[in-house]
Amino acid sequence: MNILPDKNLLNTIKNIMHQNGLHFNKSLGQNFLISQSALDTIVQNCGIIGDSNLFSTSDAPNTPNTPHAPNAPDTTDAPDTPATPLSATDPYVIEIGGGLGVLTHMLAAQTKNVYTFELDSKLADFLRLNTSATIINEDFLTADISPIIQRAQTENKQLFVVANLPYYITSPIITKLLENAGTPSPFNAITVMLQKEVAQRMVAPPGTSRRGAFSIFVQFYTTPNIICNVPANCFMPAPKVDSAVVRLTPHASTITSSSDDFFRLVKQSFLQKRKMLVNSLSSFYGKQTVINALSTLNINPKVRAEDLSITEFDNLTQILHMNRAEKPN
Ligand code: SAM
Repeated sequence: MNILPDKNLLNTIKNIMHQNGLHFNKSLGQNFLISQSALDTIVQNCGIIGDSNLFSTSDAPNTPNTPHAPNAPDTTDAPDTPATPLSATDPYVIEIGGGLGVLTHMLAAQTKNVYTFELDSKLADFLRLNTSATIINEDFLTADISPIIQRAQTENKQLFVVANLPYYITSPIITKLLENAGTPSPFNAITVMLQKEVAQRMVAPPGTSRRGAFSIFVQFYTTPNIICNVPANCFMPAPKVDSAVVRLTPHASTITSSSDDFFRLVKQSFLQKRKMLVNSLSSFYGKQTVINALSTLNINPKVRAEDLSITEFDNLTQILHMNRAEKPN
């Protein structure tokens, strides 16, 4: 679908702002969507509609990808997702940043269980009067979302996150949703609009220059798919960069090393991204130890961190930590 700005939506938003004495607060990342095609695409693909293509064969979480294939996320480590026994009717939805409610309305038309966080109290008041969603006037980063998760679980309902994110806190929000929401993930899918460049980093497969510690982090917890790109002129006011809608489908981890050790190694590996991995890691583990470990794993000693899959990082973590345990310094 072509994602285009919409004059009617632009005028509606201008009128609502004017009639309610509202002003854009740039420091809160208030770039409101003025594209009906983008809104339709988000709602159709976020999983809350029965016939949505959430698990279409082309991007199912357990679809094997060719390792190191360009432009394919590193999903080789993702296990099969078990068939969900949860009820698909009236799923729970957490929306982050309701704004003037363009997305909130569409979500609330699909399910009665929409919980919308909005930090700006004027916008929260407006949303309370004009949508049927439950409006929570709190900072999403510090809010306790466990009661919503518990309610969805008690009622045996699916739970989704759907949001046009405030871009100034994209990473902390993704971290809260992936790392801190519990294991296994309570979410059936997380569909978010964010900066296009961040989306490209999220899905970057091994062997591509955009791959970094953030790609590994996201792909450790989920299978990410870019649903569509959204040009900057689809927002009011227009941000400086283009955006993209990404759907993250959580999966269980299959790594066998401790996740603390795994992520420490990933962080160390990407500290000097352009260097060969051997050189990046030599100060932590000793050059010869790293060369030997790569050789044991049949990995080219000239690789850079961006070339490794999650499984390869896992194997490397095990060997390097075994080595450390044997030779305490
Ligand atoms: N959903 C609307 C749309 O698509 O037009 C608005 C999206 S706008 C990019 C982001 C919204 O997040 C703004 O309304 C902003 O006030 C709100 N926001 C910013 N920081 C927030 C936070 N920490 N917690 C909750 N909402 C926040």
